[in-house]
Amino acid sequence: MLKNVKAHRMQLPREVMVGDGILDEVGALYKRLGLRGPALVISGPKTYDIAGREVVRSLSEWGIEVSTIVAHEPTMEEVRRVERAARGGHVGAVVGVGGGSKIDIAKLAASELGVPVISIPTAASHDGLSSPFASLKGLNRPYSVQAQAPIGVLVDMDIIAESPHKLAASGCGDVMAKFTAVRDWRLAHERNGEYYGDYAASLALMSARLVAKNARRIGSGAREGLRVLMEALISCGVAMSIAGSSRPCSGSEHLFSHALDVIRPGGALHGEQCGVGAIMMAKLHGLNWRKIRAVLATIGAPTDAEGISATPEQVVRALIMAPDIRPGRYTILNEARLDEHKALKLARSTGVLS
Ligand SMILES: [Zn+2]
Repeated sequence: MLKNVKAHRMQLPREVMVGDGILDEVGALYKRLGLRGPALVISGPKTYDIAGREVVRSLSEWGIEVSTIVAHEPTMEEVRRVERAARGGHVGAVVGVGGGSKIDIAKLAASELGVPVISIPTAASHDGLSSPFASLKGLNRPYSVQAQAPIGVLVDMDIIAESPHKLAASGCGDVMAKFTAVRDWRLAHERNGEYYGDYAASLALMSARLVAKNARRIGSGAREGLRVLMEALISCGVAMSIAGSSRPCSGSEHLFSHALDVIRPGGALHGEQCGVGAIMMAKLHGLNWRKIRAVLATIGAPTDAEGISATPEQVVRALIMAPDIRPGRYTILNEARLDEHKALKLARSTGVLS
């Protein structure tokens, strides 16, 4: 008999819809998922115009009562504001519509309210759109926290195709990060006996390989390319659900990005920073970092400090600070022990600094 085996919980989306012009199907999705009671739609000022209004219309057409909140910065205060608004009346489910931060607010608010959440991304900018984690400001830590996996994900490719290319390029950086994240995860398993799941790791790696293979198509903004990227981002979210942690998708390259956010908040997009981090961490791991850099360049994603608006000092500081950003997350940075000299050498040798 197995003893002392802690239950491994996998919370997955039940229905994922990807298609052209399918935004008006959200009402039908809501019903199919068996959701009862009023919907609380959360979107941003811009994303309400892009998709939120249509989502509200579709839900209303299906006889679902809807209330709307236009959220701003992804902070804990905003989550509390949403909760207060929701507590005024009964809420059957939360529907998050936006590029990423609005979905994070929706996921966390839904968790706190104890209701399901539907995710409707308006850009392919990172892998949080289907994952059970949310990153918010005001949590005293720059990395993501456990929320809940969306019960439904609806992606209208017409909207994704209209979003700025910079956002998709950032999404590619977040996917390229899986090459190093999976290596870090395996390293933590070998060194510290941390749980490692081959299935989740393989799923994350497959997403990264597919995006690399389709770099040209994604770079040109072709629909098929964007669809590959969107499916990769969704799969990465599912990989995290299967792993029960962000491990398959977030390693040393994410720690570098988080450190940069602490040093100079809001300087570049999450995925852009993770992509640049992945180039350097791949070198530390002995992986083919040139390939990662070439893929990012083909896609039009940043590959150096200038591209992510970071000074040489900020890059070096972030590299040194990164291993202390998230205690307990063992990565190659724990072994490389970068000091100023080594950090500078790493950044220069990979072309991140000239
Ligand atoms: Zn990420």
